[in-house]
Amino acid sequence: MNQLELLWDYQQADMEAERQENTMKRSPARQRLLKYQEYLREQKAASVHLEEEVHAMSDRIDALKDAIELAETQLKALHNRFESSRPTTSEDIQSFIQETQRVAQNISGYEQEVRRIRKDAADRDNQQRDILQRATKVRSDYDKLKAEYDVEYKDNKEKLEQLRTVAADKAKAIDPAYMEKYKSIKQHIMPPLSKLNGDQCGGCRMSLPSAVLRSVRGGTPVECESCGRMIIQ
Ligand SMILES: [Zn+2]
Repeated sequence: MNQLELLWDYQQADMEAERQENTMKRSPARQRLLKYQEYLREQKAASVHLEEEVHAMSDRIDALKDAIELAETQLKALHNRFESSRPTTSEDIQSFIQETQRVAQNISGYEQEVRRIRKDAADRDNQQRDILQRATKVRSDYDKLKAEYDVEYKDNKEKLEQLRTVAADKAKAIDPAYMEKYKSIKQHIMPPLSKLNGDQCGGCRMSLPSAVLRSVRGGTPVECESCGRMIIQ
């Protein structure tokens, strides 16, 4: 075999290894495992977000408790003042009542907010528990499938390594300059070599100018202007 025939032969082996690798990537078990992983990541993020919200709520409740305490002190002070010097004019009595009502309303507002936040926080705790339950279930499905996939992967990986070894052995006989060219074309298009098909590139079916045909038929490979493959006889 000449160099170009060897390179063509190598390509067959290389493509077989590529096909095996693609089959492995497209494995339904692998795709499902990736979906599970994505789901678990999303749920984890949602759970962290809920936790942060509950934390902020707990801070707000602390602040409200302080405010309630302060208002209760104010209320007590108002009562003490009332006891020590009872207002006599109706104006003073009116103003005492108004002030007392204002502070009492504040307290009731704060207490309402505390109750609302506690309820929201409890809702979030429930949501988090649901997330955890679902995630635990998915995690267990994931582990089961992963165990199956590991067996499948091991077999496929062995097969792939065999195919790669076959290709690597074939590569040994090939001029490094051709190999370089092959690899650089492979980054753009697969397979990198095409055979002449009449007066067309066998890869993309583009009709080739007669100068190109002459070179290829004369044993000098030419890169196809249309698809970039190395065209050989
Ligand atoms: Zn082409």
